[in-house]
Amino acid sequence: MMSKPMNVLTTKPSPLSTMVVLLIICILSFYALHFPHSSSPSSASRNMETVFLSTSSNSTISTYLRALTLHPHLAGTKPASDTTSYVLNHFLSLGLEAHTASYATLLSFPVRSSLSARFGDGSAASLPLSEAASAAPVVAAYHAYSPSGSVHARAVFANYGRERDYQALAAMGVSVRGCVVVVRKGGGVGRGAAVEVAEKHGAAAVLVYGESDTWREGFERGHVMRGIGDPLTPGWGGVEGGERLGLEDSEVLKRFPKIPSMPLSAEVADTILSSLGGVSVPLEWRSTLKSKVRHVGPGPTMLNFTYQGEMKVATIQNVFAVIKGSEEPDRHVLLGNHRDAWTYGAVDPSSGTAALLDIARRFSVLLGLGWKPRRTIILCSWDAEEFGMIGSTEWVEQNLINLGSKAVAYLNVDCAVQGPGFFVGSTPQLDNLILEVMKKVKDPDSEGVSLYENWAAGGGGNNIQRLSGVDSDFAPFVQHAGVPSIDMYYGRDFPVYHTAFDSYNWMAEYGDPFFHRHVAVTGVWGLLALHLADDCILPFNYLSYANELQLYKNMLSNLVDQQISLHPLTTSIQEFASAAKEADDELKKLRLQETEGCSVDMKKRALNDRLMLAEKGFLDADGLQGRQWFKHLVFGPSNDHERLNFFPGVSDSITTSNGFSERERVARIQHEIWRVARAIRRAASALTGEFT
Ligand SMILES: [Zn+2]
Repeated sequence: MMSKPMNVLTTKPSPLSTMVVLLIICILSFYALHFPHSSSPSSASRNMETVFLSTSSNSTISTYLRALTLHPHLAGTKPASDTTSYVLNHFLSLGLEAHTASYATLLSFPVRSSLSARFGDGSAASLPLSEAASAAPVVAAYHAYSPSGSVHARAVFANYGRERDYQALAAMGVSVRGCVVVVRKGGGVGRGAAVEVAEKHGAAAVLVYGESDTWREGFERGHVMRGIGDPLTPGWGGVEGGERLGLEDSEVLKRFPKIPSMPLSAEVADTILSSLGGVSVPLEWRSTLKSKVRHVGPGPTMLNFTYQGEMKVATIQNVFAVIKGSEEPDRHVLLGNHRDAWTYGAVDPSSGTAALLDIARRFSVLLGLGWKPRRTIILCSWDAEEFGMIGSTEWVEQNLINLGSKAVAYLNVDCAVQGPGFFVGSTPQLDNLILEVMKKVKDPDSEGVSLYENWAAGGGGNNIQRLSGVDSDFAPFVQHAGVPSIDMYYGRDFPVYHTAFDSYNWMAEYGDPFFHRHVAVTGVWGLLALHLADDCILPFNYLSYANELQLYKNMLSNLVDQQISLHPLTTSIQEFASAAKEADDELKKLRLQETEGCSVDMKKRALNDRLMLAEKGFLDADGLQGRQWFKHLVFGPSNDHERLNFFPGVSDSITTSNGFSERERVARIQHEIWRVARAIRRAASALTGEFT
């Protein structure tokens, strides 16, 4: 099952650091017991930060990870429900209030598959469709929600499977109609989009392989459903006994591809691609190719490919731990991670689950010392993320009103650690808070510097990303509910992604041998939560949002022609910037008065509400055209993510208006610009809180 030798974790907290932690806890317990009201809340919460950071333990996190990854835990299976109990019992054993929320949702599983090739020289071979090492209990490699089908056709190579790749093929006189298209993963297209574009060009089937120098025998499982959430309950929470569309409903059918697809290992892809004839691979593709492909085909290699899968309604379970707020229990800070995995899932997502369990442990230490968060904190463990963010999406849909009016922020961690380098993404009002928190956390890879220092020097992302992607559980929170959000992780593009090799041993040997990166993620995650839950005035800064919008407008001006007016954007951004400035001035003034303590104060509460709700202004009831579930007009999925990863509606109007008359083209783009401008105005007026 495991192909690599065990690497035993040897690091434990040193005796000295254990003593320091115990000393701090002693001092603070004494302090909490004897002087419960003697200091301002802000200094008390600073003390809690110190305790939180000092109670980290790499060996404890590795123990959690070990337990979570003993068995593969694919959503809808028995081992997955064992992880539900494990997480629930962990929360309960810490004395936290915990519960589960179940949904009956449509999942998809493989039944059987086969692939054989007949080469130009007449020889034939049967090709593997799963890792040799992955006999049960790991699920066979497949694409969830792929239709069943059998195809006997010539193979053709289509690079990343982007629209422009098919245009390049067409320019060389190559048609993929009726062929089995082989594409490599990457180039800014997701797995589902690659299948969708191939289908549009008349392909009979699609095989997708991951390019990698190592672990070339791994198969990347994944789903190919369009949109997110349970396909049978689009837009509403799929509770048991509730309304459910039929499998033949057109709303449901449009979510699934019509041609079968399957993942390939880099090794198997090489066998097929190196045997192709026909035109040479374009130079532009060749420069980044790792496989031995020289010609694109089609043929002479013929592939015989069969996939049979089944869809069934299965129960999934989200698990929650709730720490009630003392002063403002009706304001919520949410920390979330998914629990289900394609295989053992040590990186994806159990590194994040282990981090969440450790945060729970450390929060319970703080509670024992008398800490009472000002606002309510909810730890969320989602199910069925790998099938299209189903657990989180159903919950967001079911709780939309409460989330919209009471959620301060959502902090997501999926794969906590994939390797070196820290990456973080957020909605822009949280940028400053992220940077401040990163300065307080030790860098796990460089001695004596903060995580911030290493990151700013290029150790990782080096800039804060935006949450337009639909690839983890932040998507429903930002793009459907308009909740300010953060997503973070260590490392990226790890070679065993979604394969049978994503195991504890891989993590212990390659991903994070000493579990210090896990400790760093829990440090940032926990401190963000402490600030958002405890700061009297929410640590939001909308000036960075205004700057970001201005930047987007400037980038857009380079992409549209003279006939399109960006004036509506200019004036709405000005309005937004002055609202942001006003809110910031008020925030600074109220902060000066904080010395007298932090009791419930209507002025602060009113400002906090405006800071919390402004993000909702960017939502639009009609949503994105053709993807109406996505309501956010600044961040969300667009057809051409590479070019514009903001203003998705504007982006789509530019890329899809080619077939229209000039007048109509201009009108369509202009309309989308007006919609964004109105959204920005709504956010500005939510921030000032004034009626017109
Ligand atoms: Zn994941």
